[in-house]
Amino acid sequence: MIKNRKLIWKLYPSFLVVVLIALGSVTGYTVNSMRQFFLDQNRKKLIVEARLLKDQLKPLLLAADEVKIDELCKRFKDDIKTRITVIMPNGKVVGDTLENPRYMDNHANRPEIKIAMTGETGQSVRNSGTLQQEMMYVAQPLYANGVLKAVIRTSVAITAIENELTIIQRDRIIWGILTAVIAAIICLIISRRIAQPIEEMKKGALHFAKGELGYRLPLTDIAEFSSLAKSMNRMAADLEGRIVTIVNQRNEYEAVLSSMVEGVIAVDRDEKVLSVNQAAARMLNINTETLRKPTVQEMVRNSRMQTNISKTLTDGEFINEDIIIIQRSADVVFNFRSMPLFDASEEQIGALVVINDVTRLRLLENIRTDFVANVSHELKTPLTAIKGFVETLINGLEADDPKETNRFLQIIMKHVNRLNMIIEDLLSLARIEKLSDDESGIISLQGDIKVVIDSAAQAVQVMADTKNIRIAIADNEPLQTGFDSSLLEQAVINLLENAIKYSDEGSDIKIDYGTLSEEILISVSDNGPGIHSQHLPRIFERFYRADKARSRELGGTGLGLAIVKHIVQLHSGRVTVDSTLGKGCTFTIHLPSK
Ligand code: ADP
Repeated sequence: MIKNRKLIWKLYPSFLVVVLIALGSVTGYTVNSMRQFFLDQNRKKLIVEARLLKDQLKPLLLAADEVKIDELCKRFKDDIKTRITVIMPNGKVVGDTLENPRYMDNHANRPEIKIAMTGETGQSVRNSGTLQQEMMYVAQPLYANGVLKAVIRTSVAITAIENELTIIQRDRIIWGILTAVIAAIICLIISRRIAQPIEEMKKGALHFAKGELGYRLPLTDIAEFSSLAKSMNRMAADLEGRIVTIVNQRNEYEAVLSSMVEGVIAVDRDEKVLSVNQAAARMLNINTETLRKPTVQEMVRNSRMQTNISKTLTDGEFINEDIIIIQRSADVVFNFRSMPLFDASEEQIGALVVINDVTRLRLLENIRTDFVANVSHELKTPLTAIKGFVETLINGLEADDPKETNRFLQIIMKHVNRLNMIIEDLLSLARIEKLSDDESGIISLQGDIKVVIDSAAQAVQVMADTKNIRIAIADNEPLQTGFDSSLLEQAVINLLENAIKYSDEGSDIKIDYGTLSEEILISVSDNGPGIHSQHLPRIFERFYRADKARSRELGGTGLGLAIVKHIVQLHSGRVTVDSTLGKGCTFTIHLPSK
């Protein structure tokens, strides 16, 4: 695993190592050069001292006064700290600053002496057999009249030089350490200066990653970092602009999708749902919050829809069909369309599903189809009868019998009247429907309900009289509300006509009116045969009859109650029926009280 370390801790040690190596080698080189210099200086000093001694020693050597020679050597002991040794050509030591020459070895074999014997200046650095310490020796021959008289050897202990050098080295090392500390501090400062802008950039990048694109990186005085910071700031600004555009586009797209009446579902190639709008969620009972990236199978529970989506995904097929979903309250019909979804390069990336709730539309279509069939049927019955009687008359079968001819013509007239009534009722219905579509303000006119009821009762009085039926109107207070008087009168007339039509001769009809829980009620009750409960939910449908034969016999068109329902709905009200078979029924108009 790669060990992550901060940049400063990568830069700093490297800098430090480079600086310390440089410092160490310079110090080492200096100390070494100094040592060499010291040794050279001492060697030169020894040579000069040996030369100076030659003049003083020469007479003593010529006189062969060994005692004086030794004394001379010992006299310099305290002055010059140099050991002087005088060796005869045979190697015998005759004088020495530190030792008694009598006890000293023959020095003929010493390397520096050997060289001096040949007339050269001998030099050597070695351990002294006499003093048992490291010494530097310089030996020079001393001639008198061309004859080698002795060798003068000057020497100094290396340890003395080393001691001096150690003192100098210690100073050097202290200075070196001080310099190293200063260098370390400088390195740290430089490393920080390099690492700091990168740290800032890291911080900025973290802000950007968190989506804080308004953050701006500070500019430094290092050109490269400054231009990098500028580039990153520009990039963040660009990114922010683009994100704002994308978010706006997405919001607009979501607003469009969520305000659509159609359900829309987008699915990718792996059958994962990409997006679902509110309408689709509502239609299919989907809780979009509980599932994250659900599959089609998890979200759309209908197997037919699942199969269709799969087909579109695999074959790129465009599917359009109505799917009925059986629900507890009522069945729902969805028009389901699935089509392939393409990206910019025309490659299929999934499927798009559009769902429409067409329950009402299909119901209306069915009603319309049924209505056309019913109208045709209703018109066909009297027309067939008319056609039959007219054909009989044309064939002249009853020509001789004017009475029979007249009867035929009466029947034809009855059917023509019936056709006329059906057409009039259909036209009334169409007119009322048109009014409700137009939403005209006809019902805003205030009026008295009692006036309408009286007028309607008057209109059916003749019809009631023929069956000796009494119409009793409740003697209540006048009731003011907004309505269209002629339409409301028409509705009450239709209810009264039915009550008269279906009641026995001599029976009573009651009209009541009043207010109940914010509603104005107008009820028409009779003591007729009543309606079986199985018919009650449908009797307000066009052409629906509880008792078909009786209705036809009594000249009913099957449209009377449908007209009542539409008039009442136009007034934002409703009509209800209450009936006990054999005991009559009560129709009640409910109008909102304004
Ligand atoms: P119709 O022209 O056949 O009377 P309506 O739409 O007015 O048509 O009535 C629908 C059906 O409701 C009638 O065919 C009849 O069977 C039943 N009906 C309506 N009013 C009454 C009533 N007062 N008593 C009994 N049945 C009624």
